[in-house]
Amino acid sequence: MTSPDQELWTRVKERLRAEVGPEVFSSWFARMDLESTEDDTVKHSVPTRFLKSWIQSHYAERLLICWQKEQPAIRRIELTVRSAVLRTLTQKPKAPEPPPPQRGELREARGNGGEQRATVPPVSAAHEALGGSPLDPRLSFETFVVGRSNTLAHAAGKQVAQGRRGEAVMFNPLYIHAGVGLGKTHLLQSIAWAGNAATDRKVLYLTAERFMYGFVAALRTQNALAFKEALRTIDVLVIDDLQFLQGKQTQAEFCHTLNALIDAGRQVVIASDRPPSDLESLDERVRSRLAGGLVVEMGSLGEELRLEILKSRVAAAKLHHAGFDVPYPVLVFIAKTVTHNGRDLEGALNRLLAHSKLTSQPVTLEMAEREVRDLVRPMEPKRIKIEEIQRVVARQYNVSRADLLSSRRTANVVRPRQVAMYLAKTLTLRSLPEIGRRFGGRDHTTVLHAVRKIENLVNNDAALAEEIELLKRQLQE
Ligand code: ADP
Ligand code: MG
Repeated sequence: MTSPDQELWTRVKERLRAEVGPEVFSSWFARMDLESTEDDTVKHSVPTRFLKSWIQSHYAERLLICWQKEQPAIRRIELTVRSAVLRTLTQKPKAPEPPPPQRGELREARGNGGEQRATVPPVSAAHEALGGSPLDPRLSFETFVVGRSNTLAHAAGKQVAQGRRGEAVMFNPLYIHAGVGLGKTHLLQSIAWAGNAATDRKVLYLTAERFMYGFVAALRTQNALAFKEALRTIDVLVIDDLQFLQGKQTQAEFCHTLNALIDAGRQVVIASDRPPSDLESLDERVRSRLAGGLVVEMGSLGEELRLEILKSRVAAAKLHHAGFDVPYPVLVFIAKTVTHNGRDLEGALNRLLAHSKLTSQPVTLEMAEREVRDLVRPMEPKRIKIEEIQRVVARQYNVSRADLLSSRRTANVVRPRQVAMYLAKTLTLRSLPEIGRRFGGRDHTTVLHAVRKIENLVNNDAALAEEIELLKRQLQE
Protein backbone atom coordinates (compact mmCIF):
# COMPACT_ATOMS: atom_id res chain seq x y z
CA MET A 1 0.00 0.00 0.00
CA THR A 2 1.26 3.45 -0.87
CA SER A 3 2.09 5.99 1.75
CA PRO A 4 -0.22 8.64 0.20
CA ASP A 5 -3.01 6.27 1.17
CA GLN A 6 -1.75 6.19 4.73
CA GLU A 7 -1.58 9.95 4.79
CA LEU A 8 -5.12 10.11 3.56
CA TRP A 9 -6.15 7.66 6.26
CA THR A 10 -4.46 9.81 8.88
CA ARG A 11 -6.54 12.77 7.74
CA VAL A 12 -9.73 10.71 7.70
CA LYS A 13 -8.97 9.61 11.23
CA GLU A 14 -8.60 13.20 12.33
CA ARG A 15 -11.98 14.03 10.86
CA LEU A 16 -13.53 11.05 12.52
CA ARG A 17 -12.00 11.87 15.87
CA ALA A 18 -13.30 15.42 15.62
CA GLU A 19 -16.78 14.14 14.79
CA VAL A 20 -17.26 11.43 17.36
CA GLY A 21 -15.02 12.80 20.08
CA PRO A 22 -11.75 11.37 21.37
CA GLU A 23 -13.38 8.90 23.74
CA VAL A 24 -15.57 7.19 21.19
CA PHE A 25 -12.77 7.33 18.71
CA SER A 26 -10.30 5.54 20.90
CA SER A 27 -12.96 3.01 21.97
CA TRP A 28 -13.90 1.90 18.50
CA PHE A 29 -11.41 3.13 15.92
CA ALA A 30 -8.02 3.08 17.62
CA ARG A 31 -7.25 -0.36 16.28
CA MET A 32 -8.77 -0.03 12.87
CA ASP A 33 -6.20 -0.34 10.09
CA LEU A 34 -6.31 0.64 6.47
CA GLU A 35 -5.66 -2.40 4.29
CA SER A 36 -6.05 -0.91 0.81
CA THR A 37 -7.92 1.53 -1.37
CA GLU A 38 -9.04 0.38 -4.80
CA ASP A 39 -11.09 2.53 -7.16
CA ASP A 40 -14.16 3.44 -5.14
CA THR A 41 -13.58 1.03 -2.28
CA VAL A 42 -11.68 1.40 0.96
CA LYS A 43 -10.73 -1.73 2.86
CA HIS A 44 -10.31 -1.58 6.59
CA SER A 45 -9.52 -4.28 9.10
CA VAL A 46 -10.28 -4.55 12.78
CA PRO A 47 -9.09 -7.16 15.25
CA THR A 48 -12.39 -8.74 16.25
CA ARG A 49 -15.75 -9.73 14.87
CA PHE A 50 -17.61 -7.76 17.47
CA LEU A 51 -15.73 -4.58 16.61
CA LYS A 52 -16.55 -5.18 12.98
CA SER A 53 -20.27 -5.60 13.52
CA TRP A 54 -20.43 -2.70 15.95
CA ILE A 55 -18.72 -0.30 13.56
CA GLN A 56 -20.86 -1.54 10.72
CA SER A 57 -24.07 -0.95 12.54
CA HIS A 58 -23.15 2.32 14.26
CA TYR A 59 -20.48 4.14 12.30
CA ALA A 60 -20.43 2.89 8.71
CA GLU A 61 -22.12 6.00 7.37
CA ARG A 62 -19.90 8.45 9.25
CA LEU A 63 -16.78 6.64 8.23
CA LEU A 64 -17.82 6.79 4.60
CA ILE A 65 -18.64 10.47 4.82
CA CYS A 66 -15.28 11.23 6.38
CA TRP A 67 -13.59 9.38 3.56
CA GLN A 68 -15.62 11.16 0.92
CA LYS A 69 -14.58 14.52 2.28
CA GLU A 70 -10.98 13.59 1.60
CA GLN A 71 -11.57 11.51 -1.51
CA PRO A 72 -14.96 12.13 -3.17
CA ALA A 73 -14.63 9.08 -5.43
CA ILE A 74 -15.02 6.67 -2.51
CA ARG A 75 -18.36 4.84 -2.53
CA ARG A 76 -17.83 1.79 -0.38
CA ILE A 77 -16.19 0.78 2.85
CA GLU A 78 -15.28 -2.83 3.43
CA LEU A 79 -14.51 -4.15 6.89
CA THR A 80 -12.64 -7.35 7.53
CA VAL A 81 -11.42 -9.06 10.67
CA ARG A 82 -7.67 -9.40 10.84
CA SER A 83 -6.77 -13.01 11.27
CA ALA A 84 -5.41 -14.00 14.62
CA VAL A 85 -2.77 -16.17 12.99
CA LEU A 86 -1.20 -13.32 11.10
CA ARG A 87 -1.21 -11.21 14.18
CA THR A 88 0.59 -13.73 16.35
CA LEU A 89 3.17 -14.28 13.67
CA THR A 90 4.00 -10.64 13.48
CA GLN A 91 3.88 -10.09 17.24
CA LYS A 92 7.13 -9.50 19.03
CA PRO A 93 8.13 -12.21 21.47
CA LYS A 94 6.60 -11.53 24.84
CA ALA A 95 8.58 -10.58 27.88
CA PRO A 96 8.74 -13.39 30.41
CA GLU A 97 5.57 -13.49 32.47
CA PRO A 98 5.64 -12.43 36.09
CA PRO A 99 4.80 -15.09 38.63
CA PRO A 100 1.06 -15.56 39.14
CA PRO A 101 -0.40 -13.72 42.12
CA GLN A 102 -1.18 -15.52 45.33
CA ARG A 103 -4.51 -17.23 45.49
CA GLY A 104 -5.84 -14.84 48.08
CA GLU A 105 -5.41 -11.90 45.80
CA LEU A 106 -8.05 -13.07 43.41
CA ARG A 107 -10.54 -13.61 46.09
CA GLU A 108 -10.40 -9.92 46.79
CA ALA A 109 -12.18 -9.47 43.51
CA ARG A 110 -15.28 -10.55 45.31
CA GLY A 111 -14.98 -7.52 47.51
CA ASN A 112 -14.22 -9.20 50.80
CA GLY A 113 -11.21 -6.99 51.32
CA GLY A 114 -11.11 -5.29 54.68
CA GLU A 115 -10.77 -1.92 53.03
CA GLN A 116 -14.21 -1.91 51.54
CA ARG A 117 -15.82 -3.35 54.58
CA ALA A 118 -14.68 -0.34 56.51
CA THR A 119 -16.50 2.06 54.19
CA VAL A 120 -19.93 0.55 54.81
CA PRO A 121 -21.91 0.70 58.02
CA PRO A 122 -21.15 -2.15 60.38
CA VAL A 123 -23.83 -4.75 60.85
CA SER A 124 -25.79 -3.70 63.87
CA ALA A 125 -25.36 -5.66 67.02
CA ALA A 126 -29.06 -6.42 66.97
CA HIS A 127 -28.78 -8.16 63.64
CA GLU A 128 -26.05 -10.40 64.94
CA ALA A 129 -27.61 -11.01 68.30
CA LEU A 130 -30.79 -12.13 66.64
CA GLY A 131 -28.88 -14.60 64.52
CA GLY A 132 -29.49 -12.91 61.20
CA SER A 133 -27.98 -14.25 58.00
CA PRO A 134 -24.66 -12.68 57.03
CA LEU A 135 -24.85 -9.48 55.01
CA ASP A 136 -22.56 -8.92 52.05
CA PRO A 137 -21.03 -5.42 52.18
CA ARG A 138 -21.18 -5.16 48.39
CA LEU A 139 -24.95 -5.50 48.29
CA SER A 140 -26.13 -2.04 49.23
CA PHE A 141 -28.26 0.69 47.69
CA GLU A 142 -25.05 2.44 46.61
CA THR A 143 -24.24 -0.42 44.27
CA PHE A 144 -27.79 -1.26 43.24
CA VAL A 145 -28.36 -0.01 39.71
CA VAL A 146 -31.88 1.11 38.88
CA GLY A 147 -33.41 0.45 35.48
CA ARG A 148 -36.75 -0.12 33.89
CA SER A 149 -37.18 -3.63 35.27
CA ASN A 150 -36.63 -2.75 38.90
CA THR A 151 -37.65 0.89 39.37
CA LEU A 152 -40.75 0.11 41.38
CA ALA A 153 -39.13 -2.55 43.54
CA HIS A 154 -36.23 -0.22 44.24
CA ALA A 155 -38.48 2.70 45.13
CA ALA A 156 -40.55 0.54 47.44
CA GLY A 157 -37.39 -0.87 49.02
CA LYS A 158 -36.00 2.59 49.65
CA GLN A 159 -39.25 3.72 51.15
CA VAL A 160 -39.30 0.77 53.50
CA ALA A 161 -35.66 1.26 54.49
CA GLN A 162 -36.30 4.90 55.40
CA GLY A 163 -39.23 4.19 57.67
CA ARG A 164 -38.97 5.23 61.29
CA ARG A 165 -39.93 3.34 64.38
CA GLY A 166 -43.52 4.04 65.28
CA GLU A 167 -44.38 5.47 61.87
CA ALA A 168 -47.21 3.85 59.98
CA VAL A 169 -45.84 1.48 57.38
CA MET A 170 -47.01 1.92 53.84
CA PHE A 171 -46.69 -1.47 52.21
CA ASN A 172 -46.94 -4.46 54.43
CA PRO A 173 -45.62 -6.89 53.57
CA LEU A 174 -43.50 -5.72 50.69
CA TYR A 175 -43.23 -8.81 48.54
CA ILE A 176 -40.68 -8.90 45.71
CA HIS A 177 -40.44 -11.71 43.23
CA ALA A 178 -38.14 -12.37 40.29
CA GLY A 179 -36.18 -15.11 38.59
CA VAL A 180 -32.68 -16.16 39.57
CA GLY A 181 -29.94 -13.54 39.57
CA LEU A 182 -32.20 -10.55 38.99
CA GLY A 183 -31.27 -8.74 42.16
CA LYS A 184 -33.67 -9.89 44.91
CA THR A 185 -30.97 -10.62 47.42
CA HIS A 186 -29.12 -7.45 46.47
CA LEU A 187 -32.22 -5.35 47.09
CA LEU A 188 -33.13 -7.08 50.34
CA GLN A 189 -29.64 -6.75 51.74
CA SER A 190 -29.63 -3.09 50.72
CA ILE A 191 -32.76 -2.63 52.79
CA ALA A 192 -31.12 -4.41 55.71
CA TRP A 193 -27.93 -2.31 55.49
CA ALA A 194 -29.83 0.94 55.21
CA GLY A 195 -32.21 0.00 57.98
CA ASN A 196 -29.35 -1.02 60.25
CA ALA A 197 -27.63 2.29 59.68
CA ALA A 198 -30.65 3.98 61.24
CA THR A 199 -29.78 3.00 64.76
CA ASP A 200 -33.17 3.13 66.40
CA ARG A 201 -34.57 0.22 64.46
CA LYS A 202 -33.92 -3.49 64.63
CA VAL A 203 -33.71 -4.91 61.16
CA LEU A 204 -33.25 -8.61 60.69
CA TYR A 205 -32.33 -10.22 57.40
CA LEU A 206 -32.94 -13.96 57.27
CA THR A 207 -33.03 -16.46 54.50
CA ALA A 208 -36.00 -18.76 54.77
CA GLU A 209 -33.56 -21.55 55.41
CA ARG A 210 -32.04 -19.67 58.28
CA PHE A 211 -35.49 -19.03 59.67
CA MET A 212 -36.24 -22.75 59.59
CA TYR A 213 -32.88 -23.58 61.12
CA GLY A 214 -33.33 -21.02 63.86
CA PHE A 215 -36.76 -22.28 64.68
CA VAL A 216 -35.80 -25.93 64.66
CA ALA A 217 -32.75 -25.24 66.80
CA ALA A 218 -34.87 -23.26 69.24
CA LEU A 219 -37.34 -26.13 69.46
CA ARG A 220 -34.55 -28.57 70.13
CA THR A 221 -33.14 -26.51 72.97
CA GLN A 222 -36.61 -25.73 74.26
CA ASN A 223 -36.05 -22.09 73.46
CA ALA A 224 -38.86 -21.79 70.99
CA LEU A 225 -40.63 -19.25 73.11
CA ALA A 226 -37.56 -17.05 73.39
CA PHE A 227 -37.05 -17.34 69.64
CA LYS A 228 -40.59 -16.23 68.96
CA GLU A 229 -40.33 -13.38 71.42
CA ALA A 230 -37.07 -12.21 69.90
CA LEU A 231 -38.55 -12.28 66.42
CA ARG A 232 -41.48 -10.22 67.50
CA THR A 233 -39.34 -7.46 68.92
CA ILE A 234 -37.78 -6.49 65.63
CA ASP A 235 -38.91 -3.54 63.56
CA VAL A 236 -38.19 -4.83 60.11
CA LEU A 237 -38.10 -8.51 59.21
CA VAL A 238 -36.54 -9.26 55.86
CA ILE A 239 -36.93 -12.81 54.56
CA ASP A 240 -35.14 -13.97 51.45
CA ASP A 241 -35.98 -16.96 49.24
CA LEU A 242 -39.31 -17.69 50.83
CA GLN A 243 -39.92 -20.47 48.30
CA PHE A 244 -37.56 -22.63 50.36
CA LEU A 245 -39.66 -22.47 53.50
CA GLN A 246 -40.64 -26.04 54.20
CA GLY A 247 -42.25 -28.14 56.84
CA LYS A 248 -45.68 -27.74 58.38
CA GLN A 249 -44.43 -26.59 61.75
CA THR A 250 -42.03 -23.94 60.48
CA GLN A 251 -44.66 -22.71 58.08
CA ALA A 252 -47.13 -22.39 60.89
CA GLU A 253 -44.54 -20.52 62.93
CA PHE A 254 -43.75 -18.27 60.02
CA CYS A 255 -47.43 -17.55 59.68
CA HIS A 256 -47.71 -16.56 63.36
CA THR A 257 -44.66 -14.35 63.15
CA LEU A 258 -45.96 -12.69 60.02
CA ASN A 259 -49.32 -11.98 61.53
CA ALA A 260 -47.89 -10.79 64.81
CA LEU A 261 -45.47 -8.39 63.14
CA ILE A 262 -47.92 -6.99 60.66
CA ASP A 263 -50.62 -6.57 63.26
CA ALA A 264 -48.15 -4.73 65.46
CA GLY A 265 -47.37 -2.36 62.61
CA ARG A 266 -43.87 -3.73 62.00
CA GLN A 267 -42.50 -3.94 58.52
CA VAL A 268 -42.06 -7.26 56.72
CA VAL A 269 -40.15 -7.60 53.45
CA ILE A 270 -40.09 -10.82 51.49
CA ALA A 271 -38.41 -12.07 48.34
CA SER A 272 -39.20 -15.19 46.43
CA ASP A 273 -38.78 -16.61 42.97
CA ARG A 274 -42.54 -16.66 42.43
CA PRO A 275 -45.64 -14.66 43.32
CA PRO A 276 -47.51 -15.47 46.54
CA SER A 277 -50.26 -17.32 44.72
CA ASP A 278 -47.69 -19.82 43.43
CA LEU A 279 -46.30 -20.77 46.80
CA GLU A 280 -48.27 -23.99 46.70
CA SER A 281 -46.88 -25.47 49.85
CA LEU A 282 -48.05 -22.53 51.93
CA ASP A 283 -51.39 -22.33 53.58
CA GLU A 284 -54.03 -20.34 51.70
CA ARG A 285 -54.34 -17.82 54.53
CA VAL A 286 -50.61 -17.11 54.50
CA ARG A 287 -50.67 -16.66 50.77
CA SER A 288 -53.43 -14.15 50.90
CA ARG A 289 -51.74 -12.32 53.75
CA LEU A 290 -48.59 -12.14 51.64
CA ALA A 291 -50.54 -10.90 48.67
CA GLY A 292 -52.27 -8.28 50.82
CA GLY A 293 -49.35 -5.84 50.86
CA LEU A 294 -47.47 -4.63 47.84
CA VAL A 295 -46.38 -7.34 45.41
CA VAL A 296 -43.75 -6.23 42.92
CA GLU A 297 -42.08 -8.24 40.22
CA MET A 298 -38.60 -7.47 38.95
CA GLY A 299 -38.17 -8.30 35.29
CA SER A 300 -35.06 -9.47 33.52
CA LEU A 301 -32.18 -7.05 33.27
CA GLY A 302 -32.29 -5.08 30.04
CA GLU A 303 -29.16 -4.44 28.05
CA GLU A 304 -28.76 -0.90 29.36
CA LEU A 305 -29.09 -2.05 32.92
CA ARG A 306 -26.58 -4.81 32.32
CA LEU A 307 -24.13 -2.27 30.98
CA GLU A 308 -24.62 -0.02 34.00
CA ILE A 309 -24.14 -2.92 36.38
CA LEU A 310 -20.94 -3.86 34.60
CA LYS A 311 -19.66 -0.31 34.81
CA SER A 312 -20.30 -0.10 38.51
CA ARG A 313 -18.70 -3.50 39.02
CA VAL A 314 -15.57 -2.47 37.20
CA ALA A 315 -15.39 0.69 39.26
CA ALA A 316 -15.63 -1.40 42.42
CA ALA A 317 -13.00 -3.86 41.24
CA LYS A 318 -10.63 -1.02 40.46
CA LEU A 319 -10.56 -0.06 44.12
CA HIS A 320 -8.74 -3.29 44.81
CA HIS A 321 -6.93 -3.80 41.55
CA ALA A 322 -5.40 -0.54 40.48
CA GLY A 323 -4.18 -1.78 37.12
CA PHE A 324 -7.49 -3.33 36.15
CA ASP A 325 -9.44 -1.65 33.41
CA VAL A 326 -12.07 -2.82 31.00
CA PRO A 327 -12.37 -0.79 27.81
CA TYR A 328 -15.84 0.42 26.98
CA PRO A 329 -16.25 -1.79 23.89
CA VAL A 330 -15.58 -4.84 26.03
CA LEU A 331 -18.30 -3.80 28.47
CA VAL A 332 -20.73 -3.34 25.62
CA PHE A 333 -19.75 -6.69 24.24
CA ILE A 334 -20.38 -8.47 27.56
CA ALA A 335 -23.66 -6.64 28.11
CA LYS A 336 -24.78 -7.88 24.72
CA THR A 337 -23.48 -11.41 24.91
CA VAL A 338 -24.01 -12.44 28.49
CA THR A 339 -27.70 -11.97 28.69
CA HIS A 340 -28.84 -14.30 31.42
CA ASN A 341 -28.67 -12.57 34.75
CA GLY A 342 -26.58 -10.62 37.19
CA ARG A 343 -24.65 -13.65 38.32
CA ASP A 344 -23.39 -14.35 34.84
CA LEU A 345 -22.33 -10.74 34.45
CA GLU A 346 -20.38 -11.03 37.64
CA GLY A 347 -18.87 -14.28 36.43
CA ALA A 348 -17.83 -12.71 33.15
CA LEU A 349 -16.08 -9.84 34.89
CA ASN A 350 -14.38 -12.15 37.34
CA ARG A 351 -13.00 -14.09 34.42
CA LEU A 352 -11.57 -10.97 32.87
CA LEU A 353 -10.11 -9.88 36.16
CA ALA A 354 -8.56 -13.27 36.80
CA HIS A 355 -7.17 -13.40 33.31
CA SER A 356 -5.69 -9.94 33.43
CA LYS A 357 -4.14 -10.58 36.84
CA LEU A 358 -2.70 -13.95 35.97
CA THR A 359 -1.25 -12.92 32.64
CA SER A 360 -0.63 -9.24 33.38
CA GLN A 361 -2.17 -8.48 30.03
CA PRO A 362 -4.65 -5.65 29.57
CA VAL A 363 -8.24 -6.60 28.88
CA THR A 364 -8.99 -6.50 25.17
CA LEU A 365 -11.94 -7.44 23.05
CA GLU A 366 -10.12 -10.46 21.69
CA MET A 367 -9.50 -11.71 25.17
CA ALA A 368 -13.09 -11.01 26.22
CA GLU A 369 -14.48 -12.83 23.22
CA ARG A 370 -12.39 -15.83 24.16
CA GLU A 371 -13.22 -15.70 27.83
CA VAL A 372 -16.92 -15.19 27.35
CA ARG A 373 -17.17 -17.94 24.78
CA ASP A 374 -15.81 -20.00 27.57
CA LEU A 375 -18.43 -18.69 29.93
CA VAL A 376 -21.28 -19.33 27.60
CA ARG A 377 -20.84 -23.01 28.13
CA PRO A 378 -22.04 -23.29 31.73
CA MET A 379 -24.96 -21.09 30.78
CA GLU A 380 -26.30 -23.62 28.34
CA PRO A 381 -29.40 -25.28 29.71
CA LYS A 382 -28.50 -27.58 32.51
CA ARG A 383 -28.72 -31.30 31.80
CA ILE A 384 -31.93 -32.40 33.38
CA LYS A 385 -32.59 -35.93 34.51
CA ILE A 386 -35.91 -37.68 34.05
CA GLU A 387 -35.96 -38.69 37.73
CA GLU A 388 -35.62 -35.05 38.64
CA ILE A 389 -38.54 -34.12 36.44
CA GLN A 390 -40.64 -36.83 38.04
CA ARG A 391 -39.68 -35.68 41.49
CA VAL A 392 -40.42 -32.02 40.85
CA VAL A 393 -43.70 -32.71 39.07
CA ALA A 394 -44.83 -35.11 41.77
CA ARG A 395 -44.09 -32.54 44.44
CA GLN A 396 -45.86 -29.82 42.53
CA TYR A 397 -49.05 -31.86 42.08
CA ASN A 398 -48.92 -33.50 45.45
CA VAL A 399 -48.71 -37.07 44.18
CA SER A 400 -45.89 -39.54 44.68
CA ARG A 401 -43.28 -40.43 42.12
CA ALA A 402 -44.53 -44.01 42.35
CA ASP A 403 -47.97 -42.74 41.30
CA LEU A 404 -46.48 -41.27 38.16
CA LEU A 405 -44.87 -44.59 37.25
CA SER A 406 -47.90 -46.68 38.22
CA SER A 407 -50.70 -47.74 35.96
CA ARG A 408 -53.28 -45.72 37.89
CA ARG A 409 -55.53 -43.72 35.63
CA THR A 410 -57.32 -41.39 37.98
CA ALA A 411 -57.40 -37.81 36.79
CA ASN A 412 -55.20 -36.50 39.60
CA VAL A 413 -52.37 -38.77 38.42
CA VAL A 414 -52.96 -38.77 34.68
CA ARG A 415 -52.42 -35.06 34.17
CA PRO A 416 -49.20 -34.81 36.24
CA ARG A 417 -47.90 -37.90 34.44
CA GLN A 418 -48.56 -36.30 31.08
CA VAL A 419 -46.91 -33.09 32.18
CA ALA A 420 -43.86 -35.02 33.35
CA MET A 421 -43.62 -36.89 30.06
CA TYR A 422 -43.98 -33.67 28.13
CA LEU A 423 -41.20 -32.08 30.17
CA ALA A 424 -39.03 -35.16 29.69
CA LYS A 425 -39.46 -34.84 25.95
CA THR A 426 -38.83 -31.11 25.80
CA LEU A 427 -36.07 -30.76 28.39
CA THR A 428 -34.00 -33.87 27.72
CA LEU A 429 -32.63 -35.56 24.63
CA ARG A 430 -34.22 -38.89 25.51
CA SER A 431 -36.21 -40.69 22.83
CA LEU A 432 -39.90 -41.48 23.18
CA PRO A 433 -39.31 -45.23 23.79
CA GLU A 434 -36.68 -44.41 26.40
CA ILE A 435 -39.07 -42.01 28.15
CA GLY A 436 -41.78 -44.67 28.02
CA ARG A 437 -39.44 -47.14 29.70
CA ARG A 438 -38.61 -44.66 32.43
CA PHE A 439 -42.31 -44.13 33.12
CA GLY A 440 -43.08 -47.62 34.28
CA GLY A 441 -42.45 -49.34 30.94
CA ARG A 442 -45.03 -47.56 28.82
CA ASP A 443 -45.24 -47.70 25.06
CA HIS A 444 -43.72 -44.82 23.08
CA THR A 445 -47.13 -44.04 21.55
CA THR A 446 -48.42 -43.31 25.03
CA VAL A 447 -45.62 -40.81 25.53
CA LEU A 448 -46.28 -39.24 22.15
CA HIS A 449 -49.95 -38.91 23.02
CA ALA A 450 -49.09 -37.20 26.31
CA VAL A 451 -46.69 -34.79 24.64
CA ARG A 452 -49.23 -33.78 22.00
CA LYS A 453 -51.96 -33.46 24.57
CA ILE A 454 -49.98 -31.07 26.75
CA GLU A 455 -48.74 -29.12 23.74
CA ASN A 456 -52.34 -28.50 22.73
CA LEU A 457 -53.44 -27.59 26.22
CA VAL A 458 -50.57 -25.18 26.72
CA ASN A 459 -51.66 -23.22 23.69
CA ASN A 460 -55.14 -22.71 25.07
CA ASP A 461 -54.74 -22.72 28.80
CA ALA A 462 -52.71 -19.82 30.17
CA ALA A 463 -52.74 -21.16 33.71
CA LEU A 464 -51.29 -24.49 32.65
CA ALA A 465 -48.75 -22.76 30.41
CA GLU A 466 -47.56 -20.76 33.36
CA GLU A 467 -47.47 -23.79 35.61
CA ILE A 468 -45.25 -25.53 33.10
CA GLU A 469 -43.03 -22.47 32.77
CA LEU A 470 -42.54 -22.51 36.52
CA LEU A 471 -41.72 -26.21 36.51
CA LYS A 472 -39.17 -25.61 33.79
CA ARG A 473 -37.64 -22.78 35.73
CA GLN A 474 -37.35 -24.92 38.85
CA LEU A 475 -35.75 -27.70 36.85
CA GLN A 476 -33.30 -25.46 35.10
CA GLU A 477 -32.01 -23.82 38.23
P1 ADP B 1 -31.27 -13.05 43.15
O1 ADP B 1 -31.23 -12.98 44.64
O2 ADP B 1 -32.48 -12.45 42.57
O3 ADP B 1 -31.03 -14.44 42.61
P2 ADP B 1 -28.90 -11.44 43.36
O4 ADP B 1 -29.41 -10.32 44.17
O5 ADP B 1 -28.07 -12.45 44.06
O6 ADP B 1 -30.07 -12.17 42.58
O7 ADP B 1 -28.11 -10.84 42.11
C1 ADP B 1 -27.18 -11.58 41.35
C2 ADP B 1 -25.99 -10.72 41.00
O8 ADP B 1 -26.38 -9.68 40.13
C3 ADP B 1 -25.40 -10.06 42.22
O9 ADP B 1 -24.01 -10.00 42.04
C4 ADP B 1 -25.99 -8.68 42.20
O10 ADP B 1 -25.18 -7.75 42.83
C5 ADP B 1 -26.13 -8.43 40.71
N1 ADP B 1 -27.27 -7.54 40.43
C6 ADP B 1 -28.54 -7.91 40.13
N2 ADP B 1 -29.33 -6.83 39.96
C7 ADP B 1 -28.54 -5.76 40.15
C8 ADP B 1 -28.74 -4.34 40.10
N3 ADP B 1 -29.95 -3.84 39.82
N4 ADP B 1 -27.68 -3.55 40.34
C9 ADP B 1 -26.46 -4.05 40.63
N5 ADP B 1 -26.20 -5.37 40.68
C10 ADP B 1 -27.21 -6.21 40.45
MG1 MG C 1 -31.04 -14.51 46.07
